[in-house]
Amino acid sequence: MRQTLISDDKVIEELKKAAAETLAIDVATIKADSSLVKDLGAESLDFLDINYRIEQTFAIKMARHFIIEHIEEMFGEGTALDTDGKLTEKAVNLMRIRLDTAVEGSTLEALKPGMDMDALPAMITIRSMAGSIMDILDTLPENCTECGKSAWKTENDTHIVCGACGAEAAYKNGDDLIKDWLQKTQDEHKII
Ligand SMILES: [Zn+2]
Repeated sequence: MRQTLISDDKVIEELKKAAAETLAIDVATIKADSSLVKDLGAESLDFLDINYRIEQTFAIKMARHFIIEHIEEMFGEGTALDTDGKLTEKAVNLMRIRLDTAVEGSTLEALKPGMDMDALPAMITIRSMAGSIMDILDTLPENCTECGKSAWKTENDTHIVCGACGAEAAYKNGDDLIKDWLQKTQDEHKII
């Protein structure tokens, strides 16, 4: 369900904090549209660190794999990347749908078939990453899986727990969420 206990702004604030701590930079210099790679200098190991911090903060599991890897696994080798490791048109079409509301138009323009997969991390912004976190938080079930009651509340505006029995909220993990989204989008748009 679409949860309302944790706001978009709160997620962006926590993500800025996590990025600032990981990259040892001043949080005030980070904007919602900052690219973690291009503007903040993040490298691949930094993403692991930021993900870890975010997982602790919100008690969620972030995706371990990029959408490209999921496309190849679900729809077959060569569907997302050609033999030179460049993005296929199908992969680009899927990613455009995925990123439509999360990134700036200019970033979306840069996403083209033939693009190198290594160029993708530069497209990740604080805002697009916050969108992925919100998607996970929005898998909060209507009722507590432990006691069946619907009495969710937050602790520190980041942890959702059951107000009736105290159980931690159970969310879908990031990888399962990407797979669900890919299947649904494929069924609707028949891109692959
Ligand atoms: Zn409960």
